[in-house]
Amino acid sequence: MKFAVLTIFPEIFDGFFKESIIGRAIEDGKIEAEVIDIRDFSKDRHKNVDDRPYGGGAGMVMKPEPLFDAVLSARAKYPDAKVAVMSPGGEKYSQIFAERLSCLDELIIVCGRYEGIDQRFFELCCDIEISVGDYVLTGGEIPAMAVIDSVARLVPGVLGCSESAEEESFQSGRLEYPHYTRPFKFRGHEVPDILLSGNHGEIRKWRKAVSLIKTLKNRPDLLLSNPLTGEEEKILSGTIRRLEDFVRK
Ligand code: SAM
Repeated sequence: MKFAVLTIFPEIFDGFFKESIIGRAIEDGKIEAEVIDIRDFSKDRHKNVDDRPYGGGAGMVMKPEPLFDAVLSARAKYPDAKVAVMSPGGEKYSQIFAERLSCLDELIIVCGRYEGIDQRFFELCCDIEISVGDYVLTGGEIPAMAVIDSVARLVPGVLGCSESAEEESFQSGRLEYPHYTRPFKFRGHEVPDILLSGNHGEIRKWRKAVSLIKTLKNRPDLLLSNPLTGEEEKILSGTIRRLEDFVRK
């Protein structure tokens, strides 16, 4: 998969595209990434890319022309690319969203700054408007990294076998179970006995139960959109029964 990122702060991506799993994926040719400086497309002598808002108000607005030309140039290189614009007003990002994007071959990602981007740019160029959450950041670079990172790790071969994405939070509409490693006892806190039992069936059941309880506690909304399976209902009623016994005693 190929990513082209349009930004006025290209250096922000230096470490991101060099280090860790994303850096390795680029080195191995599993993904490609290019950062395009929007200022290179400014016709202004001072390379300005923003201007005051029509109608008044605080802050500056990103001008449509340099962004439009930057997208045209990127599209010449990535003809099949969809254009995703990072914006707090966009569709809320999620794991399912990432899965949808990971099916694309090419993606152009536009990072806004200032008060945002002139609406005409959205009308002319934007295929997908993405919000990474209900909060406002100073720019679209961190949202772009969140999108690239979450999509890239779904591209076949990007994660090694030891880094499988199969059982992770949200993959099945549930939060993931907790992880433990050595030492067995840390500051008085021990690893749950079941994980040392060697009984893989029971370990699987335990993980399902704690994943379910964590989802119920932290993200009940996920249970509404992904109703309980028969197995989960059984696990949950067993847990509730044990809790009731415990309270009665
Ligand atoms: N005035 C805008 C508003 O209230 O919606 C906020 C603009 S924000 C300061 C500047 C840029 O940061 C946006 O154009 C967008 O690219 C990016 N940004 C900020 N928060 C974001 C979010 N939650 N999701 C995606 N992009 C975001």
